Amino acid sequence: MKPTMKPKFKETIPVFCWGNEIQIGEEDGLAGIIPDPSGSITLLVQSMNGKNTVDELVQIVQKDFPEIPREDIFTSIQALDNEGYIEDASIEPTSLKEYDLERYKANINFFSLFTSLEESKYEIQEKINNCKISLLGVGGLGSQILYHLAALGFHNIRALDFDRLELSNFNRQLLYSEADVGQLKTEMALKRINQFNPNVNLSITNCKIGKPEEVYDHIKETEYVVCVADKPTLYIQNWVNEAIVKAGLPMVSGGVLNTRGRFYSMIPGETGCVQCHVDSKKVADDQFERQLKFMEGMDFQRNNAAISPNVAILAGAMVNELLKIVTGFPAPIALGKIMEVNFFTLQTKEISSWEKNSTCPVCHSARSFRDKVSLEASSLS
Ligand SMILES: [Zn+2]
Repeated sequence: MKPTMKPKFKETIPVFCWGNEIQIGEEDGLAGIIPDPSGSITLLVQSMNGKNTVDELVQIVQKDFPEIPREDIFTSIQALDNEGYIEDASIEPTSLKEYDLERYKANINFFSLFTSLEESKYEIQEKINNCKISLLGVGGLGSQILYHLAALGFHNIRALDFDRLELSNFNRQLLYSEADVGQLKTEMALKRINQFNPNVNLSITNCKIGKPEEVYDHIKETEYVVCVADKPTLYIQNWVNEAIVKAGLPMVSGGVLNTRGRFYSMIPGETGCVQCHVDSKKVADDQFERQLKFMEGMDFQRNNAAISPNVAILAGAMVNELLKIVTGFPAPIALGKIMEVNFFTLQTKEISSWEKNSTCPVCHSARSFRDKVSLEASSLS
């Protein structure tokens, strides 16, 4: 611990001094109680206001309690840090201005839950502001996801869709207005996002995906992909998979069924890809390939029963997964796994998981995303 640090309790962690004990935090199961018969910890805690350095805190406590050694005061501060209660108020943001600190205030409070005295909560917001996201599809799920991305402060987004607005979209597509029926969704998304968060640089492509190369062209200059494109139902996942693996980009993908939502995430070179999953299903289930062929024969297209609250649940789950992949806080839950949210019970369960197949025709030679990033970083230095 550096003596110049200015420890303070995080904005999200209230502290209650009850006389001879202190309660830290208010969430059941997370709040801590510290007995304090002498009042020395109360004095320390009340002085940790972000204005006093660690050295000054030692002086303040020792003035009233000269028998307490410096090391014990350090140990107490360290214990509060180990529990995740405190941050260093002397850490300044690198690029966030006063406006950003206000606009993303609750985001930054949330991110502070994951940082210690040594780490900057601002860096997490700055990382989000700077990273580049591809969004495939701005329909039901995609338009809600786009809202979440803009609210979180993803400032660089490329969105792709081909559809025009129809009256039947408005039971769930909250981004748009009825007056815009007949207009391209991408253009209306651009108009609305510019109003909602003018800091977002949203670039749009009007394209009906017909082959992997079109996906690759859209995503190649970005860093993370969210795929909610669902047409043509039987092919889109494979085309996107091929492009994702070629570009070496992490992806979160998902879709709404009648009563459930499903999503998965993958990192080429680390987790299995969509083809690895399909191949593992073919081995495990001898009916799978027959059903797939049958659906191809009838040109299966899924009908839509997506209502707005259900779409919101899945959109939230998917953007949370992306946030976990981008920031690492906390760890992603759907890497190489299909997770299913039951819209009636809100229970979430893993319904399928698969490993990277070393003989997979699509991803066997995929370069790991992290290797790619470190390679690019080393070529710059
Ligand atoms: Zn694969």
